[in-house]
Amino acid sequence: MHINDAVFLEDLCPKFRLRQWRKSIHRFTGKSCIYCGKPSESIDHVLPRSQGGLSITENCVPACLSCNGDKSDKNALYWYRRQKFYDPRRAMAIRAWLEGDLRLAIRLLQWANPNFKINKNYDTDESNLEAA
Ligand SMILES: [Zn+2]
Repeated sequence: MHINDAVFLEDLCPKFRLRQWRKSIHRFTGKSCIYCGKPSESIDHVLPRSQGGLSITENCVPACLSCNGDKSDKNALYWYRRQKFYDPRRAMAIRAWLEGDLRLAIRLLQWANPNFKINKNYDTDESNLEAA
């Protein structure tokens, strides 16, 4: 597991922790949708909550509202393979993410998108990520 310690701020109140956690998810991909690369506006549960999916980093990926809504309760990898913007490197990144290997996932996303930039000034960026 290569999960940043900042993902779980155990000592803080749950609401603040949830907010920080959601932000950290978006930070991993530089606020881009893991499926299509557009700006991420929501957190998608890869295994939907309705099917027992947990709200943990390994099951939650940054997604744009379009992908999140279109995917809905479908199996993420099955759904993703049928999209026009399908990229096998992103599919591998999603799989690595689900296995908790975020470092590998991010490397694969960078490979898929040469313009991918990690925002180094996350802490000063207060843009609204609470959508979804
Ligand atoms: Zn998307």
